[in-house]
Amino acid sequence: MERTLNFYAGPATLPLPALERARDEFVNWAGTGMSVMETSHRSKEYDQIHHEAMDLFKDLLGLDDDFEVLFLQGGASSQFAMLPMNFILPGGSADYVNTGTWSVKAIKEANIVASCREAGSSEADGFTRVPTQGELNLDPKAAYLHITSNNTIKGTQFQDFPDAGETPLVGDMSSDLLWRPIDANRFSMIYAGAQKNVGPSGVTIVLIRKSWVEKAKVDNLPTMLRYVTHLSKESLYNTPPSFSIYMVRNVLRWVKDLGGLAAMEERNRMKGDLLYGLFNELSDFYRSPVEPASRSYMNVVFRLPSEELEKKFVVEAQKNQMVGLKGHRSVGGCRASIYNAMEPAGVQVLVDFMREFARVNG
Ligand SMILES: *Cc1c(COP(=O)(O)O)cnc(C)c1O
Repeated sequence: MERTLNFYAGPATLPLPALERARDEFVNWAGTGMSVMETSHRSKEYDQIHHEAMDLFKDLLGLDDDFEVLFLQGGASSQFAMLPMNFILPGGSADYVNTGTWSVKAIKEANIVASCREAGSSEADGFTRVPTQGELNLDPKAAYLHITSNNTIKGTQFQDFPDAGETPLVGDMSSDLLWRPIDANRFSMIYAGAQKNVGPSGVTIVLIRKSWVEKAKVDNLPTMLRYVTHLSKESLYNTPPSFSIYMVRNVLRWVKDLGGLAAMEERNRMKGDLLYGLFNELSDFYRSPVEPASRSYMNVVFRLPSEELEKKFVVEAQKNQMVGLKGHRSVGGCRASIYNAMEPAGVQVLVDFMREFARVNG
């Protein structure tokens, strides 16, 4: 059977070479006669992949020496609370740019454990774009400025990151980490659930500045909720999600072997341009609700002329072994998630199908 073209938003498609490597090593990994899953996280074999995965993040993103890579659990959703718990001092506040669903959740959690304010929002436009720098109203005393680099649900993405001035910049990059080269050193912390662009579910990637962790207030925090705990033990304070980290390592090796982030960007722009180009060409059938300057190259959201046609589109695509094209339940419509691992040839198959669907149903 041919591999299904998987356009789910997450967990999402993984690079075939990363899966095949896992298959080949599944029951006898690194000559141990065991799988990775069965091996002690204190063994020298596991230690090697743990650190290789960390080093690959540093290498691919060009992180400076102040950065450390953490492998945590609880998803990006736990970071929504852990971040303000560690960094908003009593009586203090943090700034958040609100670009929809995920930033709304981050703001909600920050207000449970501390206090935060909206430094900008595109809510008035239904989150169909990201705010511009000029629209931001930054508090110079903010503990940090938080952005969601890519809104997985609305299909918007920051093409340029806001300038936070002296304020530490934090990015939830759950759905676009490693999609292209970025100036990651402008950030104090970047976090992502792995299951969209960098691996399977079960591990949360946190890239964080050591010098910032030193400033955290942790006296009243449980040990596991302190960044410094995981930083000082290289994410081996307790048992890490070793199989997920192993898979992330396989994915990062694939990224590197393909030419790193510059190669990812070239692939991703090619894929996005195929879809957005089709919307321009067949503009009376397909429509992007997102403003052109904010369109995501990871989650391409689109509408058809009616909800009936959208339903039919999703069903017929599935019959052609293309899955996950239904939009998020909160917004409706259709969505093609075309993360790093989606091959350009897969997007071409989708585009050909969409052209034919419009011809027959238009
Ligand atoms: C999926 C997603 C999350 C939630 O991630 P979990 O790992 O499921 O907690 C947070 N932020 C963004 C931008 C996402 O796309």
